[in-house]
Amino acid sequence: MAGIGFIGVGNMGAPMAANLVKGGHVVSAFDLSREAAAKAAEAGATLADTAVEAVTNADIVVTMLPAGAHVRAVYENEVLPAIGAGAVLIDCSTIDVDTARHVHALAAERGAPMLDAPVSGGIMGAHAGTLTFMCGGSEAAFNQARPFLDLMGKTVVHAGGAGAGQAAKICNNMMLGIQMISVCEAFNLADKLGLERQKLFDIASQASGQCWSLTTYCPVPGPVPTSPANNDYRPGFTAAMMLKDLRLAQEAAGSAGAETPLGARAEELYTRFVENGGGGVDFSGVIKALRDV
Ligand code: NAD
Repeated sequence: MAGIGFIGVGNMGAPMAANLVKGGHVVSAFDLSREAAAKAAEAGATLADTAVEAVTNADIVVTMLPAGAHVRAVYENEVLPAIGAGAVLIDCSTIDVDTARHVHALAAERGAPMLDAPVSGGIMGAHAGTLTFMCGGSEAAFNQARPFLDLMGKTVVHAGGAGAGQAAKICNNMMLGIQMISVCEAFNLADKLGLERQKLFDIASQASGQCWSLTTYCPVPGPVPTSPANNDYRPGFTAAMMLKDLRLAQEAAGSAGAETPLGARAEELYTRFVENGGGGVDFSGVIKALRDV
């Protein structure tokens, strides 16, 4: 049984903390939102009054925060000054690679093993304990964190050194954003050409156009009954979250000098969709906006 300090128990963090409690660990949770903290308490976590209190004496620290600025501030001001010797740090937030590497460097100065370990699988995966973790950090940090990640996820991959988890996450989500737009465009073109949607699905899902955005998350109602298109595009994974990840990918491409023209275009199209009120809609709902471009 380990003592775990968990900071950021929102939509993702609360069910992840619940799975650590189910795994027999003692979780001390802190969140700025009382409502979020209350959900973690319902799941069996003890509530701390401050982040410092949550992580003091913790064997493991898990953070699940909105963005890079929150992660940087929480590690610089609260986590790193308060942890004891031997604490292992796991940041599961999706953030920019540069901030992830900066926080890794500070943790190394403090002598604390650290992983950036962003996830995919969404809120359903967080509840079911079936998340995919993409981890960046040393082999030793990965091995120490792994038993805890296994309680929250089904697939746990060591992607490489500091920041490699974040790099994997944004590369994957850039592919997903571009791929979703390509599937939406194909259905919009099929409509104009008088080709039935189901026929396009039946053919492309068995042909070279086959991909996850088509076969699992089809953006038109009908062919895949569980896709958000059949539920008025209720998320799922919101367009605002997709835009956040596409922006992180563009930032990383800029600082690494990588050419990503379709990633850039996908970011523009999701920006327009979000600015026109689509932020809370599932990201496959971009099909409607693409019809009007
Ligand atoms: P959320 O907004 O529901 O939760 C974040 C929590 O952090 C909030 O409860 C907020 O009050 C808390 N917080 C912010 N600053 C804090 C601070 N200084 N101290 C303590 N608590 C603080 O967001 P979420 O959906 O749980 O997402 C968390 C992260 O996971 C994000 O980086 C997101 O990109 C990533 N993610 C989300 C999903 C998803 O489907 N929701 C999927 C994969 C990855």
